[in-house]
Amino acid sequence: MIGEKKEACGVFGVYTHEGEVSKMTYYALYALQHRGQESAGIAVSDGSEIFLMKDMGLVSQVFSERDLQSLRGHMAVGHVRYSTTGSSFWENSQPIQIPRRKGSVVVAHNGNLINTETLREELESKGRIFHSTGDTEVIAVLLAESPHEDIEEATKEVMPRLVGAYSLAIMTEEKLIGVRDPYGIRPLCVGSYRDGFAISSESSALDVIGASYIREIHPGEMAIIDEEGLRFRQIMEVRKPSLCIFEFIYFARPDSLLYGTNLYHSRKLMGMALAEEAPVNADIVMPIPDTGVPAAIGYSQASGIPFGEGLIKNRYIGRTFIQPTQEIRRLGVRLKLNPLTGDIRGKRLVVVDDSIVRGNTTREIVQMLRDSGAKEIHMRISSPPDKFPCFYGIDTAIQAELIASTKSVEEIRDFLKVDSLHYLSFENLVRSTGRERGEFCLACFDGDYPIPVPEDLKLSKYRLEKKKDEVKAE
Ligand code: SF4
Repeated sequence: MIGEKKEACGVFGVYTHEGEVSKMTYYALYALQHRGQESAGIAVSDGSEIFLMKDMGLVSQVFSERDLQSLRGHMAVGHVRYSTTGSSFWENSQPIQIPRRKGSVVVAHNGNLINTETLREELESKGRIFHSTGDTEVIAVLLAESPHEDIEEATKEVMPRLVGAYSLAIMTEEKLIGVRDPYGIRPLCVGSYRDGFAISSESSALDVIGASYIREIHPGEMAIIDEEGLRFRQIMEVRKPSLCIFEFIYFARPDSLLYGTNLYHSRKLMGMALAEEAPVNADIVMPIPDTGVPAAIGYSQASGIPFGEGLIKNRYIGRTFIQPTQEIRRLGVRLKLNPLTGDIRGKRLVVVDDSIVRGNTTREIVQMLRDSGAKEIHMRISSPPDKFPCFYGIDTAIQAELIASTKSVEEIRDFLKVDSLHYLSFENLVRSTGRERGEFCLACFDGDYPIPVPEDLKLSKYRLEKKKDEVKAE
């Protein structure tokens, strides 16, 4: 999928007296860059003071070698962001640092609260002024204003008041804490690193800095890292475990582990299951790069149809520009993908992608392949039809824009102008993860939200999206 469904954020934290924590955090954020490309930030503690640097842009654009050298300490928290709540401006970038009675607290957040307005109004009624429009400042303020001076106790007191999805890295001058909501919607894991420990949204960022994966932080659990080492505390009762299934399908890197399973392997199994569910006579199986690659390899292996690239992705484009018109949008796809015309002309293609959101990008890609002389195009999607929006930290379309919410599979096939279209079944999607259906949030497909979403929030999201469209149109 090319840029239609966007991950919200990536968080990282490290505690070690060996080496430069700012550089380690920089490399870890670099590995988590796919989770957010709007802003990046690093906060470092030397045990008595916290230094914070953040800005809009990619990790490599925000920090220079000199910046990193000036961030000295033995503990750090880092964040990459794509906005879901709160617009894209500096004040909403993270980590967010708030003074406490003694010292300060820093928070980096992946997820989305659904009771932000209530909490914010409560704090504002007590005279609190907010500088950002996101939910992370609300969490940081609640922690800073907690009657408990010990951040562990403050976290234990504040977390049950938060409703929604949150995987947090929290840091004071002395301690680093990782905590997940009781449903475990967004991932967060822990590893050992030199004489200390690290926490990360994904295990691949631990690999990159040479840390050793220990395990995931459980839903409702807190991992505390300080001079005493690492310890875990279950601070909230586990609700229905509801890891976002899209982390398996698309969001997380294929070299990451979730529920102890390698995602590349799972995605390959999704492709193999697609080949069994929807076989077709064809000459090449090709992915929509990059995220469609493992499933396309799986389809190719199971079907015996050779794997081919077909489309070459520009490796150096993170995000395309603001795209106000259909014409520029079309250029946007071209800027990212270019067809290998010689390999496509006259061929019957199986094209594998992980999902279809609005369908416009997929249709443009199909048109590009037709223009390159493809004889037949058979689209295979390694997830079921995406019909419902996300309220737990993923930036997606509103429901009316999701093509599968208004069109049948046959109507979508017709819209995309492909010869055949098949979506992976629920059963085989879950089977490919090696886990049970009850361990996931599958709300994008079945509308069954594990944390009930208030109607006014659904409506306000709709209004917000409309407003964004109006601004874009101006
Ligand atoms: Fe993931 Fe969809 Fe659930 Fe959001 S609603 S957490 S994207 S499965």
